[in-house]
Amino acid sequence: MAGEFDLIRDYFRDATAQRDDVVLGIGDDCALLEVPAGKQLAVSMDTLVVGRHFVADVDPQSLGYKALAVNLSDLAAMGATPAWATLSVTLPDADADWIKRFIAGFIELAKKYQVTLVGGDTTRGPLSITVQVHGLVEPTNSMRRNTARVGELIYVSGQLGDAGLALLAQQGLYVKQGSLASLKQRLDRPEPRVELGLMAAMHSRCAIDLSDGLGSDLGHICEESDVGALIYLDKLPMSDAVAEYVTESGDWSLPLSAGDDYELCMTVPAQHQAAFEAAMQQQDVPVTWIGMIEQGEQVRAMSPNGDVDAYVARGYDHFAN
Ligand code: ADP
Ligand code: MG
Repeated sequence: MAGEFDLIRDYFRDATAQRDDVVLGIGDDCALLEVPAGKQLAVSMDTLVVGRHFVADVDPQSLGYKALAVNLSDLAAMGATPAWATLSVTLPDADADWIKRFIAGFIELAKKYQVTLVGGDTTRGPLSITVQVHGLVEPTNSMRRNTARVGELIYVSGQLGDAGLALLAQQGLYVKQGSLASLKQRLDRPEPRVELGLMAAMHSRCAIDLSDGLGSDLGHICEESDVGALIYLDKLPMSDAVAEYVTESGDWSLPLSAGDDYELCMTVPAQHQAAFEAAMQQQDVPVTWIGMIEQGEQVRAMSPNGDVDAYVARGYDHFAN
């Protein structure tokens, strides 16, 4: 696998910014990294596979960006500061132009968050990308899934359902013009809420990033924390396009069940509400209160007319008007 595949390593070695805490980066058998005393290492990995997570003729730059973005989103949901990444690339062939563009997308986001790529692996096979990220977290400030308590307030960042609507548009199932470019941006180039997660972690002990959709991801919090949740559909933050879609179709599945938004869902004790909301007002996306952690074991949603239904994954027509 020498030759063209060495290109990948060489491009990356030249392209990534160096951090002082990288003792040894790309090029040896292992990277050597300096973990600051008193911090915990937060580690997460995500794989994107052709045919499942993206189409074969995907724009390589968007793919490089998204492969890192979805991982940084996991760090954000823990309240961790990104530091290092490793990257495993499986490619059917070594197309130099494709690789350059893929790297450009990856590097763009890596630079923004001062993440250094410190190693990886390169093999031939069906297109697949695995990224592992390493972040640093204050031991007392991590946000976990198993720490939600009855009576806490539930918040989400940004707006829900944009990526899902973009996917419908991509499949030809949504044909309105106008907002398509910005929707596509939300699907292809999600912005990991890193800064927001760090600020939230001063006031919240429990968060998850929304990769599979609010209903199921909040469901993970409920399951792990042994609690229930009640959310108010009329509080869910939506773009004009998604709100219009919901109004016209009566179908709440976009904000409730569509994945790929990579916003954060956080729970906050009532005594921290004011401080949390003040901190969130400094962020460049809105953070919206959507409901309460309650006793129980499931996610329930109250529709605008006051009906309450249990959220059932793959059964979102419960929420049709
Ligand atoms: P080894 O056989 O020891 O695993 P490799 O040839 O796979 O050696 O890798 C050599 C160096 O290049 C290592 O430091 C590895 O981390 C780095 N590397 C290989 N592929 C990638 C990649 N896709 N991204 C970043 N670094 C890579
Ligand atoms: Mg190797």
